[in-house]
Formats: sequence, structure tokens, C-alpha cells
Amino acid sequence: MKFDTIIVGGGLAGLLCGIRLSKEGQRCVVISAGQSALHFSSGSFDLLNALPDGTPVRNPLAGVEELIRQQPLHPYAKLGKEKFGELAVLARELLLEAGIAVKGEEKANHYRVTPMGNLKPTWLTLKDLLACESDSHLPWKKIAIFNVLGFLDFYTQFIADEFRKMGTESSIHSFNFPVLECIRKNPTEMRSTNIARLFDKQENLEELIRLLKTESGEAEAIILPAIVGLGQDDVVEQLQEKVGKTICLLPTLPPSVPGIHTQQQLRKYFQHLGGVYMLGDTVLRAEKEGRKVVRVYSYNHGDIPFVGKNVVLATGSFFSQGLIATSERIYEPVFDLDVSFSKDREQWYNLDLFAAQPYQTFGVKTDDSFRAMYRGQAFENLYVAGAVLEGFNAMKEGCGAGVSVLSALSVAERILSK
Ligand SMILES: Cc1cc2nc3c(=O)[nH]c(=O)nc-3n(C[C@H](O)[C@H](O)[C@H](O)COP(=O)(O)OP(=O)(O)OC[C@H]3O[C@@H](n4cnc5c(N)ncnc54)[C@H](O)[C@@H]3O)c2cc1C
Repeated sequence: MKFDTIIVGGGLAGLLCGIRLSKEGQRCVVISAGQSALHFSSGSFDLLNALPDGTPVRNPLAGVEELIRQQPLHPYAKLGKEKFGELAVLARELLLEAGIAVKGEEKANHYRVTPMGNLKPTWLTLKDLLACESDSHLPWKKIAIFNVLGFLDFYTQFIADEFRKMGTESSIHSFNFPVLECIRKNPTEMRSTNIARLFDKQENLEELIRLLKTESGEAEAIILPAIVGLGQDDVVEQLQEKVGKTICLLPTLPPSVPGIHTQQQLRKYFQHLGGVYMLGDTVLRAEKEGRKVVRVYSYNHGDIPFVGKNVVLATGSFFSQGLIATSERIYEPVFDLDVSFSKDREQWYNLDLFAAQPYQTFGVKTDDSFRAMYRGQAFENLYVAGAVLEGFNAMKEGCGAGVSVLSALSVAERILSK
């Protein structure tokens, strides 16, 4: 099977890279083993919230220069300040083009609401989720929080308590419909995605509209868990129009309905552009000739190789098995690339759970063009993008999605410029 570019891993990084390349007429395949981090996402994309020394960043475009000074191995350092800004704008535009409606911009972080009701800075937030400009208060004095009876992944009381500290009073309502009884029979079925499938049906949505209208009383706005909009884009618009109030979604504990919708939209757009997406297949190994990868083999295709001019590794971090940790070492399982990690296992983690965890910065080494390093030398045609890269701490620096999309677009540009 011959392609211009073979992309290993179909999460945010792999798909965005594939979209950028396919738009320029490249024939691309994305081979992806399974779920990506998007399935667990908050519905917001972080670009840069804090420097490695802990200083908060309000304006990522202004903050990136100091980040590069403090952490020269950071993927953003390989882009440089100008490219960082340019690719952030392009990423936002590509997401919109793919039908992922996001709000926010790169010169000023806004705040999203966590599943516990706290505010956290971020770059882009999906349009239906609650986001605000202020880090200390919400735009309303009185809101109504609704939840499905027995849905345990959404903590209405914690949320109401946090909102009260910000000066917003909440009334809490739980609701039940006969159709929800079908999934309630087994408590493990009361998951956001199963509920969302029910609300993809118009008759169930109409019932929700009737309920919100009659029960929201004097509230200025209505908050719902993110349990609608799995298969449709305009559910919240419909609800707002028919109920006559502002309606916002809050992220739930995983699985993430907004994240899964984002993954589906990216995949759909990639395929619309002519890309080939192979889900449920795992790339196992590759053959090299000199400093080039010439053939890639997957579990499902056995001895039939994938052949491409370029290969992109976007297999994610430990979570997606792009990196594997044993008791002695950390390795990259497909190409056995050079990985940065401390030889002393004690140095992998910090016993203070809330401190920056060193293992988060471990990852695949690359040169300044994101070309993979193998035994100290860069491959000519194997690039690395996304969470599998070394040199950043997605949680402490608040840069997870940003690193994935910006490195993916940079890799695509380098391939296109060849
Ligand atoms: C649970 C979780 C939640 C997160 N939430 C957020 C958030 O809300 N906001 C934010 O900004 N950042 C978040 N992050 C940071 C996150 O890393 C990035 O946002 C980003 O989505 C990662 O994308 P990726 O494509 O680099 O990797 P991944 O999303 O991990 O995708 C890698 C893909 O590669 C596949 N794969 C792995 N090995 C192989 C193989 N050998 N062959 C074929 N396929 C393979 C995996 O199955 C997976 O689909 C989160 C991270 C995690 C782990």
C-alpha cells in the first residue's frame, strides 16, 4: 500500500497533520490503534497557561519567549516565537474549517469550568461549553443546574458550592424520562455517551426542552452536563432558541461527549479530504534503510507493508502507549527511537502528588525539525508530533493540546516543503 505520508496514531496530532497534508493534495493514511486522549478531553484546548517555574501566563503569544528561555528542549522552542504564533492561528482556523466550533484566541487565555466547578485558564473552548473572561466570577447571578437522575459523573453540589464562592446562586434540579429508564437498569450504563445517544433523537430533545422551560424559573441561564450533541452540532442552539435562555454545558468525568464529537469531526474532515483512516490497527514495526524508514507493518495487515515517502509518529504518551515504561527504562515501541528519561527511577516521579511530575517530560528525542532521533542520529523521513514528544509538562504548563496541534502542523509544513 503506497502513500505519500503514513501517519501512525489518529488522535489530535495525527489527524491535524493528515488534514493539513491532505489539503495540499498528499495521499495520506492514518493508522490508529484505538481511543485517543480526545475521548477524555475537557472540551478545551490548552496552549500555554504557565511557565516551567510556575509563573502564570495570561497571553501565550507574549509568554512563549520566556518559556523557550526556561525550557530549551520544549517543542515550542523548536518552533520559535514567530512560528508558534503563526501555527496557533492556523490551528484555530483548521479546527473551525473541520466543523469544530471553538471560541478563544491565542493572545489572551480565557477560563473554562472544570467538572468540579473551578475556573481554569485555557486557549480554545468548544462553543457550547461554559467559558468566561474573568478568573473570579461568572456572567450571571442566578442559574439553574440540571442533571439526569442517577448520573454520577456530574457533581451538581460541588459545582453549586464553587459558583456560590464566585457570587452566583444555583438551583439544582434532577430529571428523569421514561426513555432514560432503559439505560438505568444497569448503573454502569448511566454514562455520558449512552445518555447523549438518547438525546440525539429529536423526540427526547423535545421532552428536555419542555422540562427546562417549566422548571428553570427565574434563572438567567441553565447549566447541563455535556450529555448532548454527540451526533449533532446544533443541539444547544435548538435548546436555547426554544427555551429562551442561555444554555451552557459543563464537562463531565470521562468519557467526554464533546471530545468524542471533536474526534469524529476531525476524522470525517480528514476522510472528506481524501485521507484513509484505519481504526483498530496497530503499527508494530518498520524496516529501515540507512536513515530512512522504508516499510511499516501493522497487526491487521501482517506481511503487507505500508510504503510512504514520509512517516509521522503521533502515538501519544504513556496513556495511549506511544511510550512504555518498564521497571528499568522507558521506550518507544514501534521504531525503538531515542527517548529521554532519567536512568535513576527515583527521579521519575515526585512523591508530592500535586507537584510537577518529571515523567511527564519524558518522550521521544527529535532534532529541531521534529525528525526522530535513532541512536543519536536523525531519520531523514520519520517525524514526531504530539504527546509522544519530549520536553514539556502538559499538566503543569497547560500546553497539552497546543503541543499536539502546533507540532503536527509544523511537521506537515516540513514535509510539504521537501
Ligand atoms: C486523559 C487525557 C486527557 C487530556 N485532556 C486534555 C484537555 O482537556 N485539554 C488539553 O489541552 N490537553 C489535554 N490532554 C493532553 C493531550 O495529550 C493532548 O491534548 C492531545 O489530545 C494528545 O493528542 P495526540 O494525538 O498527541 O495523542 P493521543 O490523543 O494520545 O493519540 C494517540 C493515538 O495513537 C494511537 N496509537 C498508539 N500507538 C499506536 C500504534 N503503535 N499504532 C497505531 N496507533 C497507535 C492511540 O490509540 C491513539 O489513538 C489530555 C491528555 C490525556 C492523557
